[in-house]
Amino acid sequence: MHFSQLGLAPEILSAVAAQGYTTPTPIQGQAIPVVLSGRDLMACAQTGTGKTAGFTLPILQLLANKPRSGAPRLRALILTPTRELAAQVEESVRTYGANLPLKSMVMFGGVGINPQIAALRRGVDILVATPGRLLDHAQQKTIDLSSVEILVLDEADRMLDMGFIHDIRRVLALLPKKRQNLLFSATFSDEIRALAAGLLHEPHYVEAERRNSAAELVRQTVFPVDRERKRDLLVELIRTHQWPQVLVFTRTKWGANALAEKLQKAGIEADAIHGNKSQNARTRALSGFKDGRLHVLVATDIAARGIDIDELPHVVNFELPNVAEDYVHRIGRTGRAGSPGEAVSLVCVDEHKLLRDIERLLGRSIEKQVHPGYEPDPHIRPEPIQMRSNAPRSGGRAGSPKPRAAQPAARGKPPSRPAAGAPRSGMRHR
Ligand code: AMP
Repeated sequence: MHFSQLGLAPEILSAVAAQGYTTPTPIQGQAIPVVLSGRDLMACAQTGTGKTAGFTLPILQLLANKPRSGAPRLRALILTPTRELAAQVEESVRTYGANLPLKSMVMFGGVGINPQIAALRRGVDILVATPGRLLDHAQQKTIDLSSVEILVLDEADRMLDMGFIHDIRRVLALLPKKRQNLLFSATFSDEIRALAAGLLHEPHYVEAERRNSAAELVRQTVFPVDRERKRDLLVELIRTHQWPQVLVFTRTKWGANALAEKLQKAGIEADAIHGNKSQNARTRALSGFKDGRLHVLVATDIAARGIDIDELPHVVNFELPNVAEDYVHRIGRTGRAGSPGEAVSLVCVDEHKLLRDIERLLGRSIEKQVHPGYEPDPHIRPEPIQMRSNAPRSGGRAGSPKPRAAQPAARGKPPSRPAAGAPRSGMRHR
């Protein structure tokens, strides 16, 4: 899906494009049409899913569709649990609303109230606020909430955890009865259900895959390394760290086999599973891995989907996946009840764009560690990523690998600059 298919105005689409985003995240794809339709929404989504744009974009559109005459009046109220989140959300409103004549404001406690009063007087269309300070203004009658058409409770579960339920109820009592309500929460606890039941009118329910929850728990490291030295580095890492049970992902079936062989030669019990292997061979490999006879299991993404172990201490991305979401699926397999797992990615110069896509999806950069003795050679040029599954590379690469259509060949070109707003990664030597 492309953003242009969501029915958003050109002014909004260009602001989104300026951020480098082309594809809506799943929560955006689901939430945006619902909000645009004017319905109430209950969204189960946490930070990292793109939820902020999920409500910001359609709100901007709804307000822009109904241009006001005269001074701005407060039409959209977004409540957040913390000052930091309020500031972040309002920043998004500004970013995505850059081409629209709408005024936004952020409001929280701990700072002077007078500048806020002055700003409110000048007029605001969209207010992002924490509940306490909003109630201060309401009490002092320095804010008029009677024209609010859309209410968002962002990170509602955190608001409840922080004891804001009474403040929320007091704010709700000040709002017009007829309005659109959007409730975003990372969890769907009984308390949230109760809040939703009292707040939402025939809500549409959407849920983002909890794709970043694992990502937050898992310790993630990128080892920059030359493509031809990945296998040696993997052997070294497994040995040095004495990782007990390692699931290694490769991009191709052929790559999975070759890597498993290499590990075996290095004296590490390893096997590969992928679509070309018989079910018996796969079952055998899997049970060996589960009961500890097999130290390392090398798998392609598709084969790994059938693996019903989700609490692995270590996942290694021998190659980054072509689709950023697959990275989150892969590393979501690590972590044992409560204790964080570890996800290691071996990244060569060909994969810098893939890494940037992943970091953009995560909303942050991943720590880089150069393993001593495996410093990448800066003279090696990026090459197109090899996708053909069964064709071994001659001398390390196929004679004429086909570049993927979706992955423009990067040969001879330095990696392109990250899109505006994309996280930058820092390099750290161990
Ligand atoms: P959020 O879950 O709203 O905190 O967003 C998480 C991160 O994803 C932020 O850094 C956003 O800038 C980024 N983001 C939001 N929407 C998209 C998208 N459609 N494509 C890529 N990144 C996005």
